[in-house]
Formats: sequence, structure tokens, C-alpha cells
Amino acid sequence: MKVHKFGGASVKDANGLRSVAKIMQSLGNESCCFVLSAMGKTTNALESVAEAHYKQTGDAAEILAQSKAFHEDVLAELFPAGHEVFNTINDLFVEVDWALEDAPRDDFGFEYDQIVAVGELLSTSILVAYLKDLGEEIEWLDARDLVKTDNSYRNARVDWELTEQAIKSKVKKGKKYLTQGFIGCTTENFTTTLGREGSDYTAAILAYVLDADEVNVWKDVPGMLNADPRFFTDTQKIENLSFREAIELAYYGAKVIHPKTIQPLQRKNIPLRVRSFVDMQEQGTLIAENLEQNPKVPFYIVKPNQTLVSISSRDFAFIVEDHLKEIFSVLSKYQISSNLMQNSAISFSICFDAKPMNFDKVIYELAQEFDVRFNEGLCLYTLRHYTEDSAKSLLEGKEVILEQKSRHTLQLLVK
Ligand code: ADP
Ligand code: ASP
Ligand code: MG
Repeated sequence: MKVHKFGGASVKDANGLRSVAKIMQSLGNESCCFVLSAMGKTTNALESVAEAHYKQTGDAAEILAQSKAFHEDVLAELFPAGHEVFNTINDLFVEVDWALEDAPRDDFGFEYDQIVAVGELLSTSILVAYLKDLGEEIEWLDARDLVKTDNSYRNARVDWELTEQAIKSKVKKGKKYLTQGFIGCTTENFTTTLGREGSDYTAAILAYVLDADEVNVWKDVPGMLNADPRFFTDTQKIENLSFREAIELAYYGAKVIHPKTIQPLQRKNIPLRVRSFVDMQEQGTLIAENLEQNPKVPFYIVKPNQTLVSISSRDFAFIVEDHLKEIFSVLSKYQISSNLMQNSAISFSICFDAKPMNFDKVIYELAQEFDVRFNEGLCLYTLRHYTEDSAKSLLEGKEVILEQKSRHTLQLLVK
């Protein structure tokens, strides 16, 4: 059994869906689980619907209508008029319409997940209908019957025991399945999501439970490169990488793989291949146990839109353990995860993605006890396996606010 995951970029339009179907067919009759993301920028659009609904700004229905029109255009390109898939897609939109008619609960995360999860239900419903028209034997599975989670909406944690039971009861060897990435379900039957970009993680969850031979994530890049091609020219493709290094890179923000993806695969030693949906002949990047990074070049990671918060005691006293305990309890209460931290005698600095939910509450609570200053619009560069030359050229022309260096990693927070 293999697990293949196709992201939003691979199905950004009708042609994308056609190509994905072709790739799926070319993989032969091997038993497979296919995991699909929402089409193109659908998740962003549905995020705006959820925000507008929660804030009751009145735009929710309008933004939803645009997404509906987009999906209807795709259907018109792929199916003859009167095909039953038109009703399936319409019904999914009607469910969101109904959700918008109710007053939102006082829990943004809950509202968000009920609305945003529809993106994956739409894309998989369209693809499965298309594949069946091509004569493929494939079963559509609702990921909410497979991935069981707690109720930490927008970042749900997997209940592995329930998930294992559910997947094993639904997925049989020798068959082909298509399901949604990113979404799950609580024991009370409420929809959850696993965090943005979480479809890679869904692929890993399925692979873990099914003891898959391999996971392939199909992307718009030839494989994992030593830098994000959106920010750097002259990137190099990495042929091989160890799980351990992949976890490090994902942790520092290498956007190509969701950070939670590697761990389940590593535990069962299931290789992960990052490969190109544009060029099937390309072997991509193989990530597996103890593989030496090849080629061993420095790896650049960029995290834009960073906020640096500097916290100091009012009386210029040293920042000691008791202060740190208080600071961390506020951060943990609001689930703020840091990208970089630094402590000096009288101040503690922490850098995170701007602007997390509850940012104002965090600042307010910290300001009860400490002097708090913050600096927005910064960019965090991480350089793994830096060399003197790579560090020098990265530093060039940059105003560095904070620098941290360990044996393998150099981090620069710049203006
Ligand atoms: P999808 O969600 O469609 O599966 P993603 O957008 O999550 O795909 O991942 C592919 C994108 O990741 C690429 O278009 C590229 O811009 C970005 N990316 C960031 N860092 C890297 C990297 N080191 N190597 C390759 N792609 C990267
Ligand atoms: N559609 C979701 C997102 O855009 C999940 C994913 O694509 O991985 O975040
Ligand atoms: Mg992604």
C-alpha cells in the first residue's frame, strides 16, 4: 500500500484535476490511498468566509458565492450538464449557507473548522466523480470517519487509538481510495482541522496506521530544494535527506512539508518522497532513516512577517526564573509558539509569526507585570549547515536585530 498526497497547487483548476487524474491512473493497479487538498486558494477564501461570519461583517455570503462560482466553472469544464456531481457540490455549499444563517458560536476555532473543511470535501468529490467517469475503480472516503481528534479546533490533535480503529475498519488492502487531507472529527462528530497545510500530515497518519511502503507528496517543485524558490534563485535540489534533518528543517519553517508529517513516518520507517506533479520522470527527494543529506549544501529558510516582543522588568532587575515562569505561562495559556528566543540580564525577547490570535491579550497580560515593547514586520532567516561564505552573503546589506548561532544553525532576525 502506498499513500499519495496532492496539494492545492496541483488542483488549482480543471486542467490540474485532469493531470492529477492522469498521474493517479499512471500509478497502475497497486493499492493506494490518495489524499487531496482543497483546490488552489479555496482554503484562504473559506477562511475569509469564516472570519466574516464570526465578526458578522456581512461579507460571508458574498465571498462564499465567489468560491461557489469558481467550483461551478470547474465542473462546467469537466462534466456534461446534468451530471450528478453538480448536485453533490451544490449540497456542500448549501450546508455552508445554512451555517452562515445561524449566529456564530463564541468560539472562532469551532466556526472556522465547520466552514473551512468544506474545501477538501469539494475537491475530492469533484475528483472522484471525474475518475469514475474515466472508468477508475476508486472509493471516496470521508476523512472525518478516519481521522479522530480532540476538540482543539484549527489545530486538532489526533487520537491515535480511535484513528487506528477507524482507518483499519474502512480501508482494505488491494483497493484504491480517495480522501481529504487536513480534516478530522471529534468524538461528538464535530469537524476539526489539523492546522494550515495539514494535508501532508493526513497522508502520514494514513501511512502510519496502514504500514504503508512509501508516501509520495506531489508538489509544484522538483523536490525539496535547499531554499524556497520564491525567495531565492540558484536553488539546488536535495536528492536525499534523513528524517531527522527533515524534522529540523520543517521546525525552522521550510514550507515544503508540514512539521507534523515526519514523526509518524519515522516511527515506522516509512520513506517519504517529495516529487513533482509537473514532471513525473523526476525522482524528487527521498527522505528516510539515516540518509545522508546529498548534496550537502547550506539550507536557507525564510520566515517573513515576524514580531519580536521584548519583555523587561520594570525596575531593571534581572530576568530570573520566576519571571520566565510567568512569561511562559502567559504564552502557553494563549498557545503562542516561538520561532526564536533570547534572554539577557534584564530582558527576554521572543519572536513569533505576526499576528497570532490573542496577541492583544498576551501583550495586555504581560504588561501587567513587565515593560513590553514590540517590533513588527521583521524577517527571520535560518541557515542550516552554514559556511563562512553562505553566512557572509546572507548577512550582506541586512540590518540584523538579533542573531543566534549554534554548531549547525545560524538564525538572523532582520528588518
Ligand atoms: P502543496 O500544499 O500544494 O502540497 P506547498 O505549497 O505546501 O504545496 O509546498 C510547495 C511549495 O513550497 C513550493 O511551491 C515552494 O514555493 C515552497 N517551498 C518552501 N521551501 C521549499 C524548499 N526548501 N524546497 C521546495 N519548495 C519549497
Ligand atoms: N487546504 C489546507 C490548506 O490550504 C490544507 C493543505 O492544503 O494542506 O491549508
Ligand atoms: Mg501545502
